[in-house]
Amino acid sequence: MVSMLENVIKTYRRGIELNNYPKDFEELILKPQRILHVNIPIKTSKGLKVFEAYRVQHNNFLGPYKGGIRYYENVTLEDDIALAMIMTLKNSLNNLPYGGAKGAIKVNPKELSIEELEKLSREYIRAISIIIGKEIDIPAPDLGTNSQIMAWMIDELSKIEGFNSFATITSKPLELFGNPIREYATGYGVAFISKLIGEKILDGIENKRVSIQGFGNVGKWSAYWLEKFGAKVVAISDSSGTIYNENGLDIEEVEKIKMKTNKLTEYKDGKKIEDPNYSLYVDCDILIPAAIENVITLNNFNKIKAKIIVEAANNPTQYEAEKELLNKDVYIVPDILANSGGVIASYLEWIQNLNWYFWDEEKNKKELEKIMKNSFEKVFNKFEKENLRSLRDAAISLSLERLYKVAKIRGYI
Ligand code: NAD
Repeated sequence: MVSMLENVIKTYRRGIELNNYPKDFEELILKPQRILHVNIPIKTSKGLKVFEAYRVQHNNFLGPYKGGIRYYENVTLEDDIALAMIMTLKNSLNNLPYGGAKGAIKVNPKELSIEELEKLSREYIRAISIIIGKEIDIPAPDLGTNSQIMAWMIDELSKIEGFNSFATITSKPLELFGNPIREYATGYGVAFISKLIGEKILDGIENKRVSIQGFGNVGKWSAYWLEKFGAKVVAISDSSGTIYNENGLDIEEVEKIKMKTNKLTEYKDGKKIEDPNYSLYVDCDILIPAAIENVITLNNFNKIKAKIIVEAANNPTQYEAEKELLNKDVYIVPDILANSGGVIASYLEWIQNLNWYFWDEEKNKKELEKIMKNSFEKVFNKFEKENLRSLRDAAISLSLERLYKVAKIRGYI
């Protein structure tokens, strides 16, 4: 099994090769600038537990580090480095004034009581407070974390700093000056990008068949907005299995069932398939992997029937599997473009927090669309004009171009 870090390094190397950058740049950009590795002791109802945790700051040539915090029991330091490296590319591509970072705690949050979760979150932010700040490194949620956890963290950080440091953490609750679009921003961005690629490749998104793997924050909101844009969501899966209806699923109903039973497969109006990966193989126009990394591999790529893959999860496609899919003329919209709605909403929240001046939901949505459309057009035009192998090649090449120029001007190479 290829690790996420190996995959990401291959992607960077591919971009460096495409742009003909010197070895010095490779040496510089493949190494994280700083890693903080901590062990956090928490007294739980089952006795003392020590949680391993990290904050990886990969690169800050373009501005303060920015990236989420993941609570996941299988996370490794290697994964955290890979995710921070993805953030550097994503922020650069979208022209945001940010570098890349990522944090993680090796924990299954569902195994903790609410009090233990709060204690762990406060201790984690305390431990990394020595390297974060509103102009230094700005965390946000990721897998397994949410706006309540951000609220505890900003409260703890405010006590340490001695003032309300709202701009240091994004994706907070609205009451703490969060962004009104943040809850659905990543999914909205995924749907918006699917619409843009649909207009280029499929003659529009109206009535096009979509299959989604994952029904968490990203999968759920992608489904919701795609349905609003006129697409037909024919399949969705979560860890309990897949549901399928060739005439389209009723997303509001699916959401109700999931809320009530916590199991997607309790949905009545369609077929149920036990395999959570079945959603990847459904006959559809657009496939959206929105669950976890490394789900499209050399072992299963030939079962995929979609013409377009929009990567809502981070790193869902293995590098070698992508090569095979490209040979079958599949278009893959890379994660650094497709799921950037979350970090863009975070950026909008941050600038409003810094200025203590706030926009309404519509204005935030319009600003997000403006940034995403601009990135999409840049990537698609480069892909077409230079006859590149893939949209990913165009995206990483553009990202690295900005990083390389700044590394040169700042005197690193
Ligand atoms: P989440 O925890 O809310 O949801 C994950 C979903 O995936 C759940 O429905 C779970 O049941 C499902 N799942 C897990 N394993 C599965 C499997 N093998 N098959 C089918 N379904 C499976 O997480 P999320 O916040 O929606 O994030 C999903 C992905 O998107 C992650 O890769 C994350 O890094 C990425 N991402 C999230 C955001 C964000 O704003 N939340 C932003 C950018 C990227």
